[in-house]
Amino acid sequence: MGASERLQELTSATVGHWIGGRAVTEGAQRQDVFNPATGAVARQVLLGGADEVAAAVAAAKAAAPAWADTPPLRRARVLNKFLALMNEHRDTLAALITAEHGKVFSDAQGEVTRGIEIVEFACGIPQLLKGDFSDQASTGIDNWTLRQPLGVVAGITPFNFPVMVPCWMFPVALACGNPFILKPSERDPSASLLMADLLRQAGLPDGVFSVVQGGKAAVDALLEHPDVKAVSFVGSTPIAHYIYETGARHGKRVQALGGAKNHLVVMPDADLDQAVDALIGAAYGSAGERCMAISVAMLVGDVADRIVPKLAERAKTLKVKNGMEADAEMGPIVTRQALERIEGFIATGVEEGAQLVVDGRNFSVPGHEGGFFTGGTLFDHVTPEMRIYKEEIFGPVLSCVRVKDFAQAVELVNAHEFGNGVSCFTSDGNVAREFGRRIEVGMVGINVPIPVPMAWQGFGGWKKSLFGDMHAYGEEGVRFYTRQKSIMQRWPASIGKGAEFVMPTSK
Ligand code: NAD
Repeated sequence: MGASERLQELTSATVGHWIGGRAVTEGAQRQDVFNPATGAVARQVLLGGADEVAAAVAAAKAAAPAWADTPPLRRARVLNKFLALMNEHRDTLAALITAEHGKVFSDAQGEVTRGIEIVEFACGIPQLLKGDFSDQASTGIDNWTLRQPLGVVAGITPFNFPVMVPCWMFPVALACGNPFILKPSERDPSASLLMADLLRQAGLPDGVFSVVQGGKAAVDALLEHPDVKAVSFVGSTPIAHYIYETGARHGKRVQALGGAKNHLVVMPDADLDQAVDALIGAAYGSAGERCMAISVAMLVGDVADRIVPKLAERAKTLKVKNGMEADAEMGPIVTRQALERIEGFIATGVEEGAQLVVDGRNFSVPGHEGGFFTGGTLFDHVTPEMRIYKEEIFGPVLSCVRVKDFAQAVELVNAHEFGNGVSCFTSDGNVAREFGRRIEVGMVGINVPIPVPMAWQGFGGWKKSLFGDMHAYGEEGVRFYTRQKSIMQRWPASIGKGAEFVMPTSK
């Protein structure tokens, strides 16, 4: 059976769980899943809780010893097969993302590709798990380190990247030898099941990867379960903070990535057309529903008067349509509730005294009148005291802030409570260097608007954009999903006689 038929079977009316290597379609609680382009209910998703989590953890625990003992090279071979299947079904996954999230199809293809890159990285696990060895640490004694899996680990993911963000987690966790339980967003849950089925086809043993659908009840059950050893989370800051605190209280290792308010600083010497392209793509791409979206244009010196009219012209003419249409530049918002939240922020900005240059509200797409659409919105003269500057809107709203010089731009970015991504457009090498060194943000772009790190570099913000010590994927991901063990060894021929009562030192 091909992935498309399998997908239809898995998601026809009800999106279920995936536990112990099979689909589970029974459950009392369920919730509607919408097609945001039409506003229609497409299907329903089961909402799991303590029972489903207990079943997934039991299956994972049973599978854990054999998976941990499987040589890394053989684990990598399973991931290599999964990689081939992900490439084969890339467009099926992308269409599924567009159908439930709303982002345009080409953007969804890009998301799947960035997810696939983490699988490619994880295929190198034998090299990544190589330990250190100290020959002759003392006479006749060697000392080395191993990195061993933690056991059952879980990932809780947001709606805005239903393929890429789970791929930040499970390929690395599995490669390191851990069984993984995914709790996807209940708003676009179907892609998780297709990936589960592709892992099965790749030869992953039953129980090593499970999916429990749901919301808070499923999350709380994972956080409280004593056999879940680590939790990776990506989502909004209040929930990230909750996950970090609750997980830590239950003795778990936690990495919790939160929200963002990303600035793009435009220096007076920047190439203006390039800066306009960068701002338009990064503010309105994926309808601003990206944690690395640019939501603040920080315009230095005389840049504002030159750039705002150009931004306005482009924001007004964005092609906002069903994401499956070939020329769509921006699709709908994920849910009606999110649309109302975004439009509420626009009203707040007006009340706060910001200048509304382009108003995206009351936007309708012919033939898709029920869809959750809004147009691109542009504010000018936004100031740091305003809520639209301080809070994450997570929609297609770009706020222009006028600053007098580079120092003020850096000061404002550094004072913001979020520190996920930031960018500076300039043609001055020294400004670029100073920016990179002085800015208090985890991911920095110089003339790059969305500096999402490559698979082997690791992803993570600073301040309230990340709770925990380690970033997602890359070598930090390998460290997160393993624990270090040090072994010191000698053999009888090199052991001296007599008990030693002093602290051993190198002899
Ligand atoms: P969200 O915080 O509402 O949900 C994230 C996950 O937490 C979902 O799986 C959801 O089911 C679960 N959840 C929601 N409420 C919960 C609660 N009260 N208790 C326990 N679990 C709960 O986020 P979202 O709306 O799905 O995603 C958008 C947010 O994610 C934005 O804030 C965005 O910036 C952030 N995000 C951050 C990154 C990053 O790398 N820092 C990446 C993508 C998205």
